[in-house]
Amino acid sequence: MDKIAIFWFRRDLRLDDNAGLYNALKSGYKVLPVFIFDSAILEKLEDKTDARVTFIYRQIEKLKIKLESFGSSLLVELGTPEQVFNKIIEKYKIAEVYTNHDYEPYAIQRDNQIQTLLNSKNIAFYSFKDQCIFEKKEILSNTGTPYTIFTPYSRKWKETLNEFYLKAYHTLRYVDSFLKINSQNLPTISDLGFQYSDQLFPTLHTNDILISKYQQERDFPAINGTSRLGIHLRFGTISIRAMARKAKSLSETWLNELIWRDFYMNILSNFPHVGNGESFRREYDRIEWRNNENEFEKWCAGLTGYPIVDAGMRELNETGFMHNRVRMITASFLTKHLLIDWRWGEAYFAKKLLDFEFASNNGGWQWASGSGCDAAPYFRIFSPKLQTEKFDKQLIYIKKWVPEYGTQNYPQPIVDHEFARKRVLEAYKKALTV
Ligand code: FAD
Repeated sequence: MDKIAIFWFRRDLRLDDNAGLYNALKSGYKVLPVFIFDSAILEKLEDKTDARVTFIYRQIEKLKIKLESFGSSLLVELGTPEQVFNKIIEKYKIAEVYTNHDYEPYAIQRDNQIQTLLNSKNIAFYSFKDQCIFEKKEILSNTGTPYTIFTPYSRKWKETLNEFYLKAYHTLRYVDSFLKINSQNLPTISDLGFQYSDQLFPTLHTNDILISKYQQERDFPAINGTSRLGIHLRFGTISIRAMARKAKSLSETWLNELIWRDFYMNILSNFPHVGNGESFRREYDRIEWRNNENEFEKWCAGLTGYPIVDAGMRELNETGFMHNRVRMITASFLTKHLLIDWRWGEAYFAKKLLDFEFASNNGGWQWASGSGCDAAPYFRIFSPKLQTEKFDKQLIYIKKWVPEYGTQNYPQPIVDHEFARKRVLEAYKKALTV
């Protein structure tokens, strides 16, 4: 049996323009593609119809079919990565394993463990940058430190960018390098302990006309003015390089959003305490949250009596998506109006968002609560009423998601706005002036 290389798919579920796969195919070894349904991750998902599992499963089926058209297949296993690699090592003679970097805390620990296991068997482990344009310490200030403020970071990001960073990896030129094997069995979704979700996945809005109008339309939740790209970037079904090239030619504003994504990934890499549940600004961990469970449940269910907040939460609960403007409003409401710990909201979004991504979700929540790296100052408190007047003046979004708004059936506000404003200012001031 000849030695082979493995390409390990994780959150990069595409064949074309995939950095790690490209390098595997050029390694000189025949390449066996592998995907692991990681039982450690699956067990933690409470909802056994979680739509993200269906999304991944469908994508795995597509990858397998495509790979079989090249005379290869996809080896799909269920278990912990350690169990699965031990099994693969028994069956195949492996020289090298290729994959792409993942910057989340669990992933780093998993990859270190797998690297140690492989190296102990004299198997090389290679990982590549694929899910962002600039990673880790590639964008540093002139004094050599990581940026913590978005505007100078984005300036340096744009100055540093050149064709090299955006170039596609033409993986499909090397399909002859896939290992020729018989079609492999795929575990069923019930083998994974799940059922298919009937959730519809958002239609992508990345055509040139939509992206060109992004700047004018992106802030109005009633308009389908954003790309709905999140879930695809999350699972790597679309290449960030392809999207950044498009953004560069069509919309600076949209490009900035992609840079925010890189920015938060860099914050997570360079300030790992945010990955451990700590506030970026540690003094914010002195805030005495009220953490009223009953109020939290009302917020989750979209029953706060603040229609823009309720509309957002109901959109999230029904579709797995919430418009960015409304994510900011609902997050601000939870932390400021209800004085509930941002980590409770972060965890709820993590459960519900199809595009959930640790770095951006954590960044967004810490931005809203004021504890984040480039957060709004804590004394700037969103008024749901003013936000509605500005961004949903005709109440189109609100009426779509809260049809009983304006009737007897709609709840009274959970808390008075002015009262809540004063209460949170006092609580924050107390914590931050110690
Ligand atoms: P578009 O507006 O078309 O933007 C294109 C892409 O740029 C997005 O898909 C996303 O990858 C990236 N992007 C856009 N805005 C941001 C941003 N502010 N921060 C980081 N990346 C951004 N985004 C996530 O991808 N996952 C999350 O879990 C997440 N949680 C959030 C939680 C809160 C409290 C807030 C305020 C924001 C959060 N965001 C998150 C950022 C943003 O709301 C979403 O990326 C965006 O709404 C997704 O819609 P879209 O795909 O149509 O994006």
